[in-house]
Amino acid sequence: MKRELLSPEMMPFWQVVVFLFGACIGSFLNVCIYRIPRGETVVTTPSHCPKCDYSIAWYDNIPLLSWTLLNGKCRKCRTPISYRYFMVELITAILFSLIWFKVFMHHQPIEMIIPYFIVLAFTVTTSFIDYDCRIIPNETTYSVAILGLIFSTIFPIIHGQTLWYQGLCFSFAGLLIGGGCLLIFSLLGKWIFKKDALGLGDVKYIAAIGACLGWQACFATVLFGSILGSIIGLGMILCKGKENGRYIPFGPFLAIGTIIWMIYGKNLFLLYYQFLMR
Ligand SMILES: [Zn+2]
Repeated sequence: MKRELLSPEMMPFWQVVVFLFGACIGSFLNVCIYRIPRGETVVTTPSHCPKCDYSIAWYDNIPLLSWTLLNGKCRKCRTPISYRYFMVELITAILFSLIWFKVFMHHQPIEMIIPYFIVLAFTVTTSFIDYDCRIIPNETTYSVAILGLIFSTIFPIIHGQTLWYQGLCFSFAGLLIGGGCLLIFSLLGKWIFKKDALGLGDVKYIAAIGACLGWQACFATVLFGSILGSIIGLGMILCKGKENGRYIPFGPFLAIGTIIWMIYGKNLFLLYYQFLMR
């Protein structure tokens, strides 16, 4: 049964399902990105227009479609609604599809989809909140770390294990090793440079990634994130002449680092290793 459902012929069908599912999750992430930094609840109160307070009806809340049909404006007061809402839904939908494709093509255990989807939602939320507010909220890091521990226990195969306590151990080890190493870096940075080089939010982000994907994912995330951050940072210094002490949030780079790891994984890690060893 499972094999039939996941046969290559069913691939296009699942791809569409996953894309639409991703768009729905993206719609929820929009709510999280807007409300979490404001300390508002993300579950009970329905969405409303920030300008006229019009309670948004279900038919005006269909991911991707409603924004397009309404021409990016509130139905009642015609206030423009940022294209970012649409982009967050689209990005999430595309990322979900890519990850699904990867799991399918690489014949990874189907259970991997759970931590991957959780982490993808986490990366999108972290990127936008950190970009907007320069914080990575505890609400997201703690929730994802706990979800990582729970699902690793239920599906130890996520960490390549068979018994529940092995899954839990690997998840916990990922949390401690990833978070611990970055915490040491953060403290060292503070001691050497006499300012916060790495926020505690970044440390908690890495710990949560470790709980979901294991310790290797933490190192890959920091590695890819730092390379990307350095390139962009250098580019900004070169373009603007001099860095005017403006703080560039690290969250979005870490998030992209995590996504690169999830999609390309160990292949890219090995490539980098070979490059260093030449
Ligand atoms: Zn309105």
